[in-house]
Amino acid sequence: MKTFLRFMVLATAGLLGGSIVDAQTPTKWKPHDMNRPVPAVIDPGTPGTETSAGRPPSDAVVLFDGKDLSKWSQKDGSPAKWKVGDGYFEVVPKSGYIYTRQPFGDCQLHVEFVEPSPAKGEGQDRGNSGVILMGLYEIQVLDSYQNRTYADGQAAAVYGQYPPLVNASRPPGQWQTYDIVFHAPRFGSDGKLVRAARVTVLHNGVLVQDNVEIHGPTATDKPYEAHPEKLPLALQDHNHPVRYRNIWLRELAAE
Ligand code: MG
Repeated sequence: MKTFLRFMVLATAGLLGGSIVDAQTPTKWKPHDMNRPVPAVIDPGTPGTETSAGRPPSDAVVLFDGKDLSKWSQKDGSPAKWKVGDGYFEVVPKSGYIYTRQPFGDCQLHVEFVEPSPAKGEGQDRGNSGVILMGLYEIQVLDSYQNRTYADGQAAAVYGQYPPLVNASRPPGQWQTYDIVFHAPRFGSDGKLVRAARVTVLHNGVLVQDNVEIHGPTATDKPYEAHPEKLPLALQDHNHPVRYRNIWLRELAAE
């Protein structure tokens, strides 16, 4: 009987206008439909090791390939002043943040970093840097290996908002990874927030931020202010010589 009623509803809708039938269908594709487009084939790359950086997925935007900082600049657009070494680059204290020349919004981001060894300083004053999505939303980089600080400011925290679920830090001198999935905030044409930003973070492969909703820019305690859908990614100069390598990003289709 149910099937018959559904048929009648669909048939009636069909008489009124074909598109209504589509709108009533929960999904366009039936399970196991061979006509459904298959995902693009990519080379997934390889993970890094203690001695060498990994290889990015073939469809990623490579932001540092071990050689130069051409994809980065100072805030004013001049060449990035950070130091490039053999397969890595390093924060030059007091030189300023660096920014990608290309702006990004929704993305998957991979970053590898290593904390200065031997460790120097305490709390926030030890190996501090940051991965700042859109130049506004910071995932903290800190030497949090046996180094107490406030929970929402330790490594892999959404700075000032969410401590990581666990402290998955490696000792200084060992390469570490962040894998980040970020969805930018959305603003209406009136400038009002429609949807907050969301972020998921894996630190050394361990889930530490599970799709948390970011309250607003992390450097200020202020609410959201409307901004473009894409903005440069920044890395923070916090006066400590943190090193980075193998940075890549995959843009995600806007939802
Ligand atoms: Mg920081």
